Amino acid sequence: PVLDYVEQTKASQAFMEEAESVMPGGVTANIKHFAPHPIAMKHGKGARITDMDDNEYLDYLLSYGALMTGHGHPHIKKAMIEQMEDHGTWLFGAPHELEVKMGKKLQELYPSMEKLRYTNSGTEATLLALRVAAAYTGKHKVAKFEGHYHGGYDQMLVSVSPNVKEAGSVKKPNAVLESKGMHSSHERNTVVLPFNDLESAEKILRWHKDEIGAMMIEPLQSGYIPAEQQFLDGLASLAEELGILLIFDEVKTCFRLGLGGAQERYGIKPDLTALGKVVGGGFPVGIVGGREDVMEVTSPNQGADVFDSSQNKNAKASDVLFHSGTYNGHPMIMAAGLATIEVLEEEIEEVFQKTEHLKRELERVFAEAGIPMKAVGEGSIFSVVLTEKETIRNYRDLQETNLSMRKEIDMKLLQEGIYTKPLNRYSLSTEHTWEDIQTTIQAYERVLLKR
Ligand code: PMP
Repeated sequence: PVLDYVEQTKASQAFMEEAESVMPGGVTANIKHFAPHPIAMKHGKGARITDMDDNEYLDYLLSYGALMTGHGHPHIKKAMIEQMEDHGTWLFGAPHELEVKMGKKLQELYPSMEKLRYTNSGTEATLLALRVAAAYTGKHKVAKFEGHYHGGYDQMLVSVSPNVKEAGSVKKPNAVLESKGMHSSHERNTVVLPFNDLESAEKILRWHKDEIGAMMIEPLQSGYIPAEQQFLDGLASLAEELGILLIFDEVKTCFRLGLGGAQERYGIKPDLTALGKVVGGGFPVGIVGGREDVMEVTSPNQGADVFDSSQNKNAKASDVLFHSGTYNGHPMIMAAGLATIEVLEEEIEEVFQKTEHLKRELERVFAEAGIPMKAVGEGSIFSVVLTEKETIRNYRDLQETNLSMRKEIDMKLLQEGIYTKPLNRYSLSTEHTWEDIQTTIQAYERVLLKR
């Protein structure tokens, strides 16, 4: 398939050569690269994107899930234009109406988020959540789960996709640093737990309980491998018992799993939550919220102002939790996000129905082709997992699946106009029609049954 792929994407290939003269590897994020070269895009509308060779694709990557209302949605465009025209500017650098309007909407949808703060990305949201937790508990180690991603910064870039040889024991995984340039202290300050194994996670947590202030988890690993209910319930009560704050990273799952995210579905109230992606309507955003007593540590009323010690001469800068950001709560993004929520309130159920139908139909096509496959996921996200296992429960299970065949199929699907980055998840949008779903199933049939 690679030769045909190269033939079909010659303009992308030429563009990537030019891009390499500007950016190392020609990309702005390593994840956007794949061999032999990624596809460079130039246009998007609804569920479709067009590449530099004028090939059109049904987009199931949707910018890593962020675009749940597809490309260029008119309602979102209108909300942003109105925001600009009605207020003259696009940025105040001061408190403004939409921060509060969005906040009230989120408090309604996510009752655990009693108070919240805005950031500019999911990465910044999880980072702030960790600082809040450390400030509140006075404990600086963090616990995370093997295979879970929370952003590319040092403390959390541990054991996200470790080489199986480095990963160590299944029940007590090693802390594996995943980038050059990271300090070895993160091997000790970040404690890695096995996902969906309560007994082993509990042992590790109890061992480090006096040092761990926060436990962060993706309730659905990578947005699609669900935590088992008992496992999450167990973690929540352990966290409470051990004085560890439970942080749900719902950057991916918020809105994609339901308007109230994974916490609504599981009936669990985490101490802190990080949101991102869909809630920015396709623009950079992150939100951290949680228990009022915990979030209050971010309040400037708590002590000194870092930039103005004249207010309280006895207060030290370190008495206050520092949180800042030029673009936090950006009015244009709040407008886009609120408009996105309005669309989803009307249409989310149908997105789920389409996703469920696509999952079942793809499982049928793979079964007809004699390839063991499970469509693993919930709500509007799933992944095509080539496995004979009954269930996929964690990172180790995933490593034992047929990743090379999946990649080969994905490369062929690209030539059939079905876009996701090879090996990535499928995310659906309100703009994928039933007809698009049918087109997708037929493309799979051509790839798998007419070989
Ligand atoms: N947490 C999770 C669960 C994510 O999926 C991501 C992004 N893939 C992040 C955090 C980081 O978000 P961002 O890319 O907006 O910084």
